[in-house]
Amino acid sequence: MKRLIPVSLFVLMAILLRPAAAADVRYPIHFPDLPGYTTLKCDFHIHTVFSDGQVWPTVRVREAWRQGLDGIAITDHIEYSPHKKDVSRDLNRVHDLAAGLAKQLNLLLIRGGEITKDTPPGHFNTIFVKDMTPLNDPDIVKQARLADEQGGFMFWNHPLIWGGKWTDVHDTLYKNQWLRGVEVCNGPTDTHYLTTFGLGLEKNLTLLGNSDMHVPDLRTRNTADDHRTMTLVFARQRTVEGVHEALLERRTLVWFHNEILGRTEWLAPLFERSIRVSKPTHRAKGKLWIDIENLSEANMVLRRAGNVGPTNLTLPARSVSNVEIRFDPKKPAPTELPYTVTNFLVAPDKGLSVTLNIPAEVESTKREE
Ligand SMILES: [Zn+2]
Ligand SMILES: [Zn+2]
Repeated sequence: MKRLIPVSLFVLMAILLRPAAAADVRYPIHFPDLPGYTTLKCDFHIHTVFSDGQVWPTVRVREAWRQGLDGIAITDHIEYSPHKKDVSRDLNRVHDLAAGLAKQLNLLLIRGGEITKDTPPGHFNTIFVKDMTPLNDPDIVKQARLADEQGGFMFWNHPLIWGGKWTDVHDTLYKNQWLRGVEVCNGPTDTHYLTTFGLGLEKNLTLLGNSDMHVPDLRTRNTADDHRTMTLVFARQRTVEGVHEALLERRTLVWFHNEILGRTEWLAPLFERSIRVSKPTHRAKGKLWIDIENLSEANMVLRRAGNVGPTNLTLPARSVSNVEIRFDPKKPAPTELPYTVTNFLVAPDKGLSVTLNIPAEVESTKREE
């Protein structure tokens, strides 16, 4: 005789057997922390439909989280709103809409906006402000002062496009210490970046690199070969306040295509922490081999600066290279290899000088039986 299965059992089975919702997946970006600092990957220049972008604010949060970023500022134009018939003109609305998801995903979300004047003086982001509303003003000097009073951090965006140049207005903002940073690299196609890099060093400004993206970013992850332009921030803590303090103290580097630009003070330890040189894996007459591991997300391009070692050496991101070192067999084996990292720029025309140190002891090549 058939036994009837109660309806409630079907319901219970339906609940238990339903397919699990696909979890969101995040792909971290690998740059090592520096002594005393955590390395945060940030993008401080992004647009949404609340100015001339094409995506909703929460999409920006999800994109950045998925691609391994730690922090973003959504910086819609203050004075330019082509979608104003369709979205609110409340300048705080974009941040407020994104904040809940950012909190859920533990992504640092920084309130900001883009001051948008004709060039010159051009465009300036102000971030870490508490209330965007008073910043909607025709006078840029007043905007800068009001932003500063709120604890805002202001930087000059894409400085040299449309014939941009340093003017008296920039001087006023700079001398009042309202203008603190410069966007060395903007998006993927900045042709002025080396000049802007020089300007940033000369004026002792915080160096930033940002995507300025307007369209959806369809990348799943950021890699050495395909990533958004971003700023590496060396923060004492992974908080919005930690990022703010680091920017005020100029503890940044810029990752742009396969180049990292910035001050030696931060590039040198980043290289040191990213590279591991093994003891010789094998020795022969006048030759030895070493493993060089690159733990970072950037491909490193090295040129020999001394007399020993390969003339050119490329260390692909997140991989180990076994490198042959030839030397005069009548001389002791080398322990130090001076190189220049040609794509780690400490000035517009100057790569970072480094030394690869080969640990002294000979590693046993005997295999255990
Ligand atoms: Zn702009
Ligand atoms: Zn912009």
